[in-house]
Amino acid sequence: MIQPSIVTAPWIPHTAQGPHRRADCRGMRRRDEGIGRPRGMGGQERRWENGSINLYVGGDKRQVSSESTLTWSEKAAEEAEAVAGIYCSGHGRAYIDGLVSQGQPVCECFDCYAGFDCSELSPGCAAYADSGDPVFFEPFWMQHATDSAVVISGWHRMSYRYADGTTMSKELENYIRKLHSVVGNAVTEGRYIVFGIGSTQLLNAAVYALSSGNSSSPSNVLASIPFYPMYKAQTVFFNSEDFQFEGDTNSWQSNNQTNKMDVIEFVTSPNNPDGELKKHVLGGKTIYDHAYFWPHFTPIKGPSDHDLMIFTLSKLTGHAGTRFGWAIIKDKDIYDKVLNYISVADLGISKDTQLRVLKLIKVAVEGDGMPLFKFSYNKMRDRWDRLTSVFSKSTRFSIQQRHPLYCNFFNETRLPSPAYAWVKCEREEDHDCSAVLIAGKIIGLNGSLFSADDRYTRLSLIKSQDDFELLLKRLTELVSLEDGSIKMI
Ligand code: PMP
Repeated sequence: MIQPSIVTAPWIPHTAQGPHRRADCRGMRRRDEGIGRPRGMGGQERRWENGSINLYVGGDKRQVSSESTLTWSEKAAEEAEAVAGIYCSGHGRAYIDGLVSQGQPVCECFDCYAGFDCSELSPGCAAYADSGDPVFFEPFWMQHATDSAVVISGWHRMSYRYADGTTMSKELENYIRKLHSVVGNAVTEGRYIVFGIGSTQLLNAAVYALSSGNSSSPSNVLASIPFYPMYKAQTVFFNSEDFQFEGDTNSWQSNNQTNKMDVIEFVTSPNNPDGELKKHVLGGKTIYDHAYFWPHFTPIKGPSDHDLMIFTLSKLTGHAGTRFGWAIIKDKDIYDKVLNYISVADLGISKDTQLRVLKLIKVAVEGDGMPLFKFSYNKMRDRWDRLTSVFSKSTRFSIQQRHPLYCNFFNETRLPSPAYAWVKCEREEDHDCSAVLIAGKIIGLNGSLFSADDRYTRLSLIKSQDDFELLLKRLTELVSLEDGSIKMI
């Protein structure tokens, strides 16, 4: 009997291209051009061109389906690969859990592309650079398809708990510790680790755990402008008697508030939106948000060694949709409180998620992290090289300064390559920078969203290659209008 099961590819809901029954059914025997194909698929591709149907189950010929001993996973693997093989012109993906038309999953097109196979580019389309979706990793996972695909049986870990009674996989925790030791970006020895649904959940869990629990005098939650808006949004939304959002650390300090007051400071390092390696300003309790503290975004000077540090898979491997983050905590009491928060909020993190994260982190630590971080750093460096070349021709717009630092991971001095460009409109009259960019068909996020001046706009550099190419095109057009002969916007 065939058991219900799912086979997910590592970039689920994004899946690899390749030779497939469904692609053949649609009479589309091409493979996506814009993306790499999984390692070792040459043999399968030849067979596909001959018109036969093959199931790709790995780079090794011995594993090909006809000789395989697979039973219950075979049907799901076939389904996963068939959907992965649907041709979307390199400008979209089809997913098992996507919409279906005439019994077939349909292509979900990237921004600015349309049509049943996403081949139609809308010529006047704006560049959407507003979201922090880290899709730039997708080609890496396609190249590592074999190592990172996950098979989940219909009866996989149905219990709330693991055999040791906990809700967190010990093996995953071990791999997270190994990852930090390979990258050298955080001290984990003698520290506790708690998993969360993305780091988003842990941000508020940390505020809860650090607050003094004294409702007559709530703890003051602060961050340094420009700061990630979620800190304020969560603190206000949860509307606790135990903590309140007090805004900017620097204004707090200059208003002569004493450091001895009960403060919880978010320190985002590197910072979202400007990529700065921030340090705490006040002398109170701190939450170090290290979402971007990975070698692709910043040189790693050495291991972070703070009392409460938060990391996320989203900006490490690009799997934001998997919703997984972790906190590294020094103090046992704080650890217990964060654990209790997660337990009360959702009785722990999905076991399916933990399985997938384990698989991904195993790939991340392969070759001492070099394949993953070389890919991601090279990608970000190339994007920054091209971006700085465009902005170097502009006097109307500027971007943040970057300073070289020695990176202990790559053993070289290099510039940071932040996830976002923090663009400043320099002209007096351009006080609403987002509006200026929107007129140039570029959609970013207003400075005021980060509690900064609207003279600034954040542009995301971590989306797909299509998105980045369009962003660069629109920026180049905008900057080319500055020569004085054309008055615009
Ligand atoms: N912290 C920072 C600074 C972020 O930019 C983000 C995502 N944009 C997060 C935390 C949350 O990430 P996630 O919930 O996906 O782990």
